[in-house]
Amino acid sequence: MKAAFFKEHGGSDKIIYGDYRDPAAGAGEVVVRVKACALNHVDMLLLDGRFPPPEGLPHVNGCEVTGTIETVGAGVSGLAPGQRVIVFPGFSCGTCEYCLRGERTVCVRYGYLGAHKDGGYAELVKAPAANILALPDAIDFPAGAAIPLAMLTSWHALIAQAGVRPGQRVLVQAAGSGVGSAAIQIARLAGARVMTTVGSDDKIEFAKSLGAERVVNYRTQDFVEETKKWTNKRGADIVIEHIGGDTFERSVYALTRLGTLVTIGSHDTHWGKIDLRHVYSKNLRILGTNLGSIQELRAVLDEVVAGRLKPVIDRAFPLKDARAAVQHVLDRKNKGKVLLVP
Ligand SMILES: [Zn+2]
Repeated sequence: MKAAFFKEHGGSDKIIYGDYRDPAAGAGEVVVRVKACALNHVDMLLLDGRFPPPEGLPHVNGCEVTGTIETVGAGVSGLAPGQRVIVFPGFSCGTCEYCLRGERTVCVRYGYLGAHKDGGYAELVKAPAANILALPDAIDFPAGAAIPLAMLTSWHALIAQAGVRPGQRVLVQAAGSGVGSAAIQIARLAGARVMTTVGSDDKIEFAKSLGAERVVNYRTQDFVEETKKWTNKRGADIVIEHIGGDTFERSVYALTRLGTLVTIGSHDTHWGKIDLRHVYSKNLRILGTNLGSIQELRAVLDEVVAGRLKPVIDRAFPLKDARAAVQHVLDRKNKGKVLLVP
């Protein structure tokens, strides 16, 4: 098959489009013919070596995949070639303490499609049958590929972790990202009011169209001050943070008393500091989260079918142009998700 893979770490120039080993479905697995695969920030960490692929190089990135079943392995029932599917990207063992508690995203043997295993920057990808969901007919392949990581992670962060409620004030960092564009919509769906940040003025209208009532350019405005103005000095109930560093620190200061910060990524840096006095004196909650459950993914798909959530696609590149697609994301030119289409 053709794939866009890399044999050494670096920038987008390290991505090679060419022949790659075909995946074979083992027992309990399926091979999916990829129709669309979305890019994610974690792809960039895998590529540049900040998060080297656990199984080594060469490696194929790509966590978010829709496609059709190509082949099914031994012991797989209920799935047949040609079926339209979406792949749940998290792998878990099902037997460790955390899996038995129902918390599969913190499985001690947790892994991601496209990180711990070869992913969807390819014509074919292999996944456990347990990770395969039917893609509703109302959702096309590109829209579906924008759902299983970004939208599910934001859903779990806001609904399950932060417990967002109607009328609450939510600050979402980076409206132009997949996670940000999803979080704005989900917070609005839950009846909350949203302020968001962008890095360039040309993203302001885009952020408003998603439902943000206030949009701040973090390069020219202080988002903590703007949050205080927006909330009449009170601060936000919830901040969705995925940048790290200075943004993480100041996001904590944007919270009101009893507020919740959910950290779901570290796109700029893995490090962040905070003045602990804010945390204990205001009774703040700082929660980590990653992905969500298959059941939550079903809920998100239902909302998309109902037209209440809309996957946000920036643009799709042909698979052979994966290098350009990755550079487009590295340059932060995207408004929503960037896709590869074989
Ligand atoms: Zn486990």
